[in-house]
Amino acid sequence: MNIIEIEVEPGKEICDFCSSRDIKWRYPADDGLIEDTRPPNLIRESIGDWAACEVCSGLIETNMRFALMERSVETNLASCPGYGLAVIDFIASEVSKVHKVFWEKKKGPRIKIERRKI
Ligand SMILES: [Zn+2]
Repeated sequence: MNIIEIEVEPGKEICDFCSSRDIKWRYPADDGLIEDTRPPNLIRESIGDWAACEVCSGLIETNMRFALMERSVETNLASCPGYGLAVIDFIASEVSKVHKVFWEKKKGPRIKIERRKI
């Protein structure tokens, strides 16, 4: 089994929900596994905290789970123009798996991210 570890450079983190670079909040969470239900059957591990922008955090705080999923699907689709509706089912199922892990593993209240000015 191959294990690929993806680390994000400090300062280059993005919102784990909509990929915005403008992250404002950190959600403490336990590690969780995100399993593919179809080939290539990768098992991804979500390690540590999740990052969220102001809008996504607002949806999380008000438990607007469906709106959060819609936002993630829309921003994912926007990031791969040309695929459009052909991949919407796939993206929607990916998003729902990732979010499921988030809601299961989230622990404690959100923490404000203080960005240091460089
Ligand atoms: Zn976001």
